[in-house]
Amino acid sequence: MNAETYSLRVRGFALRVAAFCVAAAFCAGCGGSGSHLARDENSGAEAKQGVNEARVLRADRDPGNWLVHGRTYNEQRFSPLKLVNDKNVSQLGLTWFYDLDTRRGQEATPIVVDGLMYFTTAWSKVFALNAATGAPLWSYDPKVNPEWAVNACCDVVNRGVAVWGGKVFFGTLDGRLEALDATTGKLVWEKLTIDRKFRYTITGAPRVVKGKVIIGNGGAEMGVRGYVSAYDTETGAMAWRFYTVPGDPAKPFENPILAKAAKTWTGEWWKNGGGGTVWDSIVYDPELDLLFIGVGNGGPWNPRIRSPQGGDNLFTCSIVALRPETGEYVWHYQENPGEAWDYDSDEQMILADLTIQGQPRKVLMHAPKNGVFYVLDRATGALISASPYTHITWASGVDMQTGRPVETALARYPGRNPELIIPGPLGAHSWQPMSYSPVTGLVYIPIQDAGFPYKSDTDFHAKNFAFDTGTDFAAAGMPQDRQIKKAIMNSVRGRLVAWDPLQQKQAWDVDRPEAWNGGVVSTAGNLVFEGTAKGNFEAYLADTGARVWSYAIQTGAIAGPITYTVKGEQYVAILAGWGGVFPLAAGEPAMKSGRVRNVSRMLAFKLGGKVVLPALPAIEVEVLHPPAATADAATVRRGEQVYQRFCGNCHGDVVVSGGVLPDLRYSSTLTNDQWFNIVLGGLLRENGMVSFSKEVSRGDAAAIRAYVIFRANQSLKEAASGEGGGRGSYP
Ligand code: CA
Repeated sequence: MNAETYSLRVRGFALRVAAFCVAAAFCAGCGGSGSHLARDENSGAEAKQGVNEARVLRADRDPGNWLVHGRTYNEQRFSPLKLVNDKNVSQLGLTWFYDLDTRRGQEATPIVVDGLMYFTTAWSKVFALNAATGAPLWSYDPKVNPEWAVNACCDVVNRGVAVWGGKVFFGTLDGRLEALDATTGKLVWEKLTIDRKFRYTITGAPRVVKGKVIIGNGGAEMGVRGYVSAYDTETGAMAWRFYTVPGDPAKPFENPILAKAAKTWTGEWWKNGGGGTVWDSIVYDPELDLLFIGVGNGGPWNPRIRSPQGGDNLFTCSIVALRPETGEYVWHYQENPGEAWDYDSDEQMILADLTIQGQPRKVLMHAPKNGVFYVLDRATGALISASPYTHITWASGVDMQTGRPVETALARYPGRNPELIIPGPLGAHSWQPMSYSPVTGLVYIPIQDAGFPYKSDTDFHAKNFAFDTGTDFAAAGMPQDRQIKKAIMNSVRGRLVAWDPLQQKQAWDVDRPEAWNGGVVSTAGNLVFEGTAKGNFEAYLADTGARVWSYAIQTGAIAGPITYTVKGEQYVAILAGWGGVFPLAAGEPAMKSGRVRNVSRMLAFKLGGKVVLPALPAIEVEVLHPPAATADAATVRRGEQVYQRFCGNCHGDVVVSGGVLPDLRYSSTLTNDQWFNIVLGGLLRENGMVSFSKEVSRGDAAAIRAYVIFRANQSLKEAASGEGGGRGSYP
């Protein structure tokens, strides 16, 4: 509950800068693509051009910078730089790091423009640093209301800024789109993009296209209706808004395509919002002048509640192509009609020109949560190929005639008992960026194998704070039967997969015992970089997958790394900090990476880097001292149901914290009234732990505590028998 204890201890902006020397000739590593980046010959620094449309359009020939979210508009996250390469990567060392003032998940991809780095952190804060030294230029705190955190399904994360026309754009967790002066960090304009009567959040990075900043939102688990909006970069005036699902048909539809979409819904779907949020991927193709958005799951997850008489529920779980100037609909491809498992289609889209069966094709590549790799013709939305990129059990594949998945018998969880389906809501691949290398022709995908026991739950409460999905989270909790638990724990793993999109097959993979590893970047130096859940930053050969470099960064890294040059030296940087939905919600599987802490910092590496991270203070080994479990079984059972509905999504499945938020089994409030002061009285609201007095009665709060005490005693017994069950890694 003490959600951000450590954020209160701002450790100063500790900065350690290594000796910096300019040696290599400018852009010696740019490969054959040449560089058109202007350079100030007197200072030796790159001239400050800022970011504008012309420059973004030729970003591919400007590999020293990382100008937009996926480096270029096609979002391949491939860098032509090769100063750091497969021959010398062993000399890569830390050259600076910059400690942050939050202790939550860090998911942002930094932007680098002419030697300056801009990025967001948890709680939607923005930082501008010198990209060669880590020296701070400015920082900005939008002062997100901490109580808004309860509306976030998946930690108080943010995935980055956009830089354009002298401004830095970003979204805030509580729904604002802000424009800062790129030089001073001062607020230029601010727009509220949501109706705060509903539980929207923003975690995704905005994209700028033709002078408009495009932003979506999250909240499909919280009863909202999804949309994406465009705002004028100069004035902040809204240019258009495209709703991804139809609203109440008694009112006029916002555009004609929604009238058609409404025919794919049944019942009174609009009363629960419908979902379909655009919380991550937004990609622009300047040649076709199309904007592609990835649309999330329907809300609630269970289609029997969402749309009781069936229907495809457009445009949930779809890729939709829009005109960027107007938001006008052009085409869509739906990956999961009538979706039922939280298989968002929000994940990164990569645009590339491939030769398929002798024909040049403009394709869009997608590896969404559902575990299928899609290659689409991005001019028309036609499906070119689709194949599972990892083990899945909900479908056997995709029917190429209809473009629809071929679902298995268990997929719709028809039974009275939970049905273990792979993947689960975590997705086989989520927002963690992937990368396509035109050199190897491979797509590098950070994936996980993690199933989820789905069971339909008709006891659905749309209007409360619950993470209520119409599936039974109490039934989905980790079983405490030793054998079953072991089998589930062993099945949860991570992999880095190199995928051949032409042959739709795996070229190589790196197996990891832990799930929820970081995003990737690939380079012309035959390297793929990835941070890991275990707390390393690693490099692999892009062609074979051989591990060639690893650096212990003291914390799990989930964000996508980048690479850039300043004064002719190549840097590889990553924002580290363990968090996101997995360590918050997953319980025991999230502890598999060990006692990983959240140490939030930006780290930059270069050849010959000699900076050493300071040792972390030892983790105090806390011992479980729960009071005796005296409550009757019915009370514990009731407590479990209410805990799994209201508490587990942040404090962990069956009261096991994955290392970011407090592990309640160790709470000092299990024996005193502070428990009620926090759960019902909102004592820790400033940390993001709101009062649940509207949703939880005093009797239920007591039942939750009885369940936590029960679980603490259960864990104590397990620990005594040497079977784990020990404390989460919360520092
Ligand atoms: Ca979702």
